[in-house]
Amino acid sequence: MTADTTILNYINGNLQAPQSGRFLDNYDPSTGSIYSQIPDSDSQDVQLAVDAARNAFPSWSSCGVQERSRVMLRIADLISKNLDALAKAESQDNGKPMWLSSSVDIPRAESNFRFFATAILHFSSEAHRMEQLAINYTIRQPIGIVGCISPWNLPLYLFTWKIAPALATGNCVVAKPSELTPMTAYLLAKICQEAGLPPGVLNIVHGLGGNTGQAIVDHPEIKAISFTGGTQTGRTIAATAAPMFKKLSLELGGKNPNIIFADCDFDEMMDTTMRSSFSNNGQICLCGSRIYVERPIYDRFREEIVKRTRDLKVGNPLSEQVDLGALVSKAHLEKIQSYLKLAQEEGGQILCGGAIIDHKEAHLRNGYYLSPAVIEGLPIHCRTNQEEIFGPVVTIAPFDTEEEAIALANGTVYGLASTLWTSNLQRATRVAEQLQSGIVWVNCWMLRDLRTPFGGVKNSGVGREGGLEALRFFTEAKNVCLKY
Ligand code: NAD
Repeated sequence: MTADTTILNYINGNLQAPQSGRFLDNYDPSTGSIYSQIPDSDSQDVQLAVDAARNAFPSWSSCGVQERSRVMLRIADLISKNLDALAKAESQDNGKPMWLSSSVDIPRAESNFRFFATAILHFSSEAHRMEQLAINYTIRQPIGIVGCISPWNLPLYLFTWKIAPALATGNCVVAKPSELTPMTAYLLAKICQEAGLPPGVLNIVHGLGGNTGQAIVDHPEIKAISFTGGTQTGRTIAATAAPMFKKLSLELGGKNPNIIFADCDFDEMMDTTMRSSFSNNGQICLCGSRIYVERPIYDRFREEIVKRTRDLKVGNPLSEQVDLGALVSKAHLEKIQSYLKLAQEEGGQILCGGAIIDHKEAHLRNGYYLSPAVIEGLPIHCRTNQEEIFGPVVTIAPFDTEEEAIALANGTVYGLASTLWTSNLQRATRVAEQLQSGIVWVNCWMLRDLRTPFGGVKNSGVGREGGLEALRFFTEAKNVCLKY
């Protein structure tokens, strides 16, 4: 399987150019150079995708769960078989180290298909008996045509996280990956062809958010939208979809707190905190970007995080030796730099990092590389601590009491994930209950069980994905009341 230099849409089982004939440049973040072309699709292409999905729906929704499961498992097998090619493509498109895409992103994409291909075999619905009178039974039917829109940070991982439950429940899908990282979605289309997925069941339309994405959200025949991306985009999508009464699942931004009590296992906390701060260059919606440390261990923590952050190697994503690769785009690099400047203007002190990497290898010099940064001395209400930066930047601050830690953690408009470090079980349960977030990790981070509900509160989103939640989202419940 090769990553071609011209990416094509996947509509009605065919790989095809956009109707307009227009293409966009796709950059390799590790070199800053254009390496492929991506369709600049518009509403005409989305209409073709909807037509194909409409035609495919009757047979896909009625062929039975065994058949759907069988095709999806074949897709999972082919993702596994093409692991190296997919991992390489993901690294080139996104800038993340290849060891990361081959150990996390692509295996997780395979698991998403495998998980929902088998979960659907165990899906059931309720019956409610009214004694001597009637029986109510609930059936869960596919919605019809659904839209799945995903971001660039975990490209194939999040794309398949939406598509797999939508297909398993019998829907036909019009999907759009991020225009910044389209390559593995294109390769997935080839895999679907090889796996024998019937034409029109999954359609992948590439292009810009405001054009292709908006056309998907606008389309009256697309009855549900599952979106992962920024909070502002989520707001725009909600404003379009709500008057059309579309079902919506919105997985949005975060500004996640990491609360560290002095009684934690320091070494384990330190190892995991380095990952929760800087994995994937901090470009994971679940990364902890605000670190609050109980005062007795604050100085030790501060010294350790600065030392370890300075030791992180930033460089060519294809090298096994690097910890962090390139940031996804020039615009994103500039956004992060602007926040580093803002942090200083707001009175923060950059303890380490925040510099552009000066590479010896000439071909990497125009890539988007930044050294990871630790910032100290900022109050909770400043913009640096309130707005999502989504890069290799964390702020650190001490706290004195449990109440203060909870207030700091809850002190933003976001509520996606929190991490808590303590060996006191009572405190763990007490604090976890009070944290305003959809996910709380205690003494761990990113430990994912695909059966659990996944999503955020406040401005981090609406609805939940994962396990039964996703199967419920992609179905409509119908109650049938049968009188004896
Ligand atoms: P983004 O909102 O810019 O784009 C996400 C997707 O939406 C892209 O495919 C884009 O083309 C599309 N889009 C943009 N405008 C659109 C519109 N008007 N209509 C329809 N689609 C549109 O987000 P991004 O920069 O790609 O991703 C980073 C963001 O995603 C961060 O805020 C991060 O926290 C968030 N994220 C959240 C989760 C989660 O599970 N909550 C997971 C990963 C990333």
